[in-house]
Amino acid sequence: MKITEHLSSAKKTLFSFEVLPPLRGQSIHSLYEHMNPLMEFNPPFVDVTYHREEYVYKKRENGLLEKVSIRKRPGTVGICAAIKNRYNVDAVPHIICGGFTKSETENALIDLDYLGIDNVLVLRGDPIKSEARFVPEAEGHHYAIDLVKQVKSMNRGIYLHEEMENSAPSNFCIGIAGYPEKHEEAPNLQADVRHLKAKVEAGADYVVTQMFFDNSKYFRFVELCREAGITVPIIPGLKPITVKRQLAVLPKIFHIDIPEELLIELENCKNDAAAKQIGIEWAIKQSKELMEWGVPCLHYYSMGKSDSVYSIAKAMF
Ligand code: FAD
Repeated sequence: MKITEHLSSAKKTLFSFEVLPPLRGQSIHSLYEHMNPLMEFNPPFVDVTYHREEYVYKKRENGLLEKVSIRKRPGTVGICAAIKNRYNVDAVPHIICGGFTKSETENALIDLDYLGIDNVLVLRGDPIKSEARFVPEAEGHHYAIDLVKQVKSMNRGIYLHEEMENSAPSNFCIGIAGYPEKHEEAPNLQADVRHLKAKVEAGADYVVTQMFFDNSKYFRFVELCREAGITVPIIPGLKPITVKRQLAVLPKIFHIDIPEELLIELENCKNDAAAKQIGIEWAIKQSKELMEWGVPCLHYYSMGKSDSVYSIAKAMF
């Protein structure tokens, strides 16, 4: 079932969450152990992130360094199929522009279509660590909008090789990313919303937001989107803080602010156990307000740890 169908047929706010593929070499059962408790809250869908290759330098016997490419968390498509099979819920693979040619993307979309996976979250992807800015593949996409257009074309039965006859249209529901505190590269929030609108006009069906800790930022973002004529659902993404050091890490990686009130509460914590409890309480407070406001779904970034999300879901759903 498509995410938009889940959202439109829901009688109450839905619960969903995002998981990461296990680290290379770990069993898929480590993921199931993380997911099992959360299935109590009947998520209609689960997102699975995509992690592109990283470059590491390995010292060889001759003392020279060799640049080696490694994907630490492979398996997004296989995990989506496994989740669908095991839990009978929709799994949403994240697909990115980075590292893919258009042709490789088409092959991946064909695999997903054959597996009966009819939802995708379409993203550009971040620059790889060794590059200062995002560099697309020679035959790849520059922006998420270009990938949205490719998926939309396949939905119309238009594949890359136009001479094909009787090509079967795919039927993907397309999600995209939105940033209540703007994307780091956007000159301002208005410009970012204009780019978001272009992605929706190109065929995106719904938006999932970057994490935020101040609901007023989400409300303002939705208001700006609606004023700009974006009418699709905008699902808020929430992340409970689990350790004190995330106060520095999360703003650096995700370009978001920690509200002063939360910052003071966390700074006063004696240890990470206390910080984790504050993180849970803050996320419950955010969730309650968002639910009352009428969001269609509360989407949680579990980042491989389920216990905080479990406590929040227990209080909310
Ligand atoms: P885009 O929509 O392409 O936007 C990127 C930037 O370009 C923005 O600043 C935008 O304003 C600007 N822009 C867009 N169009 C134009 C234009 N025509 N001209 C000039 N500027 C333009 N990354 C992963 O690698 N794997 C994941 O699984 C993953 N999951 C994510 C899930 C969510 C919910 C979110 C919010 C992010 C996720 N990311 C993931 C991170 C994401 O890939 C990065 O934030 C990336 O830098 C931007 O992706 P995007 O799809 O928003 O890009």
